[in-house]
Amino acid sequence: MTPTPQPPLPRTAPRYRRGAWAWPLMLALTFATAVGVWLQWSDEQEHEEERSTLIADVLSLESRMADWLASEDSALKAIARRLPAQPNDEALLREPSVGQGLRRLWISVTVVDRDNRLQAHVPQQVPRPTLPAPGNPLEDNSLSAHLTTPLAHGGQLIVRFAPSALLRQTVPWWLSRKYDVRLVDDYGQRITGTDDALPAQGRQSYRVAVGAPLLDTYLELTVRDIRKPWWRTLPLALIAVFVGLSAAASWTLRRQMREVKSAENRWRTEASWRQAIEDSLTVGLRGRDMEGRLVHVNRAFCDLVGLAPEQLLGTLPPMPYWMPDAMEDTMQRHLRNMAGEAPREGYETRWLRSDGSTIDVMMFEAPLIDAQGKHIGWMGSAVDVTGRKRSEERERRQLETLANQARLTTLGEVASALAHQLNQPLAAVASYNAGVIRSLERSAFNDAVVLDALQREATQIAEAGRVVQRIRAFLTRRAPQPEPVRVEDLIQRALALVRYDVQRQGISTEVRMPSLLPPVMADPVLIEQALINLLRNALDALTPHTDRRIRITAAPAGPRFVRLDIDDNGVGLQGRSIDTLASPFHTTKADGMGMGLSICRTIIEAHHGALEAGASEWSGARFSLTLPVADANSPTP
Ligand code: ADP
Repeated sequence: MTPTPQPPLPRTAPRYRRGAWAWPLMLALTFATAVGVWLQWSDEQEHEEERSTLIADVLSLESRMADWLASEDSALKAIARRLPAQPNDEALLREPSVGQGLRRLWISVTVVDRDNRLQAHVPQQVPRPTLPAPGNPLEDNSLSAHLTTPLAHGGQLIVRFAPSALLRQTVPWWLSRKYDVRLVDDYGQRITGTDDALPAQGRQSYRVAVGAPLLDTYLELTVRDIRKPWWRTLPLALIAVFVGLSAAASWTLRRQMREVKSAENRWRTEASWRQAIEDSLTVGLRGRDMEGRLVHVNRAFCDLVGLAPEQLLGTLPPMPYWMPDAMEDTMQRHLRNMAGEAPREGYETRWLRSDGSTIDVMMFEAPLIDAQGKHIGWMGSAVDVTGRKRSEERERRQLETLANQARLTTLGEVASALAHQLNQPLAAVASYNAGVIRSLERSAFNDAVVLDALQREATQIAEAGRVVQRIRAFLTRRAPQPEPVRVEDLIQRALALVRYDVQRQGISTEVRMPSLLPPVMADPVLIEQALINLLRNALDALTPHTDRRIRITAAPAGPRFVRLDIDDNGVGLQGRSIDTLASPFHTTKADGMGMGLSICRTIIEAHHGALEAGASEWSGARFSLTLPVADANSPTP
């Protein structure tokens, strides 16, 4: 039995696909990690870059300050060269560079002699400086620093200036915006700065030593902006939100997948239930789409038509199981069904199975509706009613046979009665005939023609009497009385009785038989009757055309039988079997009774022979009968 293909069941999802709901979350996490790594890396890069810029800025500012101090120093040296030997305050004030210096940067200008005694000091209101300790130009209070240069005739010229003013002069505005600029001592203590001190924590700073005259002093730049750590930046916050959303999406997806899975399981169960139900059905099911194409067949349907599902599915009408001789009608009925006009109570049809046999089925059609309520085709169920039909047919035949038997019995009785009734008159005719012959012989009547006719009449009357006796005996169920008979005699006697018709219709007859044919064991009267009937049927079958032929062929059939064939070139049997032809009352003739072949068969079978019918080599009919060969010790005919 071939399995019927069903709509494919969804395959069970592979293990890796079952966790597919977590994929968005995993991808989001991977992405977030990548972004985090990138942020960290770029933060480090920025930090490095910031540091390089800071170092460059510190170095450039330091060199600018050095330039300033160098130029102040050269201005101081120029004043020193021009000062008189015993300078006083006026002499200093007369020096224009002194005024410029005081306006620019200097706090005071002082001249001391060789013994560190004050000689001149401007401006007056600024307290006189104590001489700085060698190597430390900053005063103790760290608010001012000194530039000194020796005078040509002993003593020193001392200029006091504020490092804060130096910073103001040298630090460009953009730098002070960007950095906290300050001067610090060895211990990192702030000497001065551009602004209030900023807490150094979280900020980058860099310091370089400032050269003379600010020995042990360092220039320090601290970045004003506090750098936010990379993990506190906005992109990372956004990524965190993104991961959160992905987690929510994954969770929703997981719930959705679970629902789908449970729906799929329910569907699988239903599908296998339906499959089991369909397989257990003995009713054939076939689904067709709106064009009439077969889209579904169950096992029972395949068994009904004897075709595999692959040979059926997808086929369009005409279907392979439609009866070839009823294609037109079946197509009409198919179109009617497709139009939705199939009878609700079903209809009967006949199908051709793949092995050539036929089956009768009862069909019921119902519309196929899909989930959206759309009409998508037709589902038909086929119930095999062949058995029922056959038993109905058998019953009908039995009834017919019974009726025929009844008619046969009546006929037998009539024939028996007729034979009985004819016996008396025939006997009377025979004795009258004998009396007439005797009287004529006594009266010396010698007309040979009349006497011969009377003799022949006597023979025929005797023959008629014999026939009547035999038929009566046969119909009253007495067994035939076989005797060894020459086949040629049987044939010739039968031919003699139809000769008149043969000659009148100009039909050519031919007898073919071997010279040595054994005699047969037969009741000659009955067999002659059978042969005459077969010859008459052959004559009747010949249509009026010029070449009309009948041939009788006799030949041994095995060691124990002789076979006789009667061929004609008439209309032929048109597919009818000997059973049909020899059934009582089967006739195609307007005046026929349909009993001839039936009686023939009964006679032949009563002789243990057989009657057959087929096609002759001339495309007419051939009737064949067999008769048993007479025993060697039976009396020779
Ligand atoms: P009847 O001769 O009364 O019809 P039969 O039983 O002798 O009855 O023959 C039955 C039928 O068989 C005939 O009606 C005829 O149709 C058919 N038949 C018999 N012999 C031949 C033949 N030689 N050729 C064609 N048909 C024949």
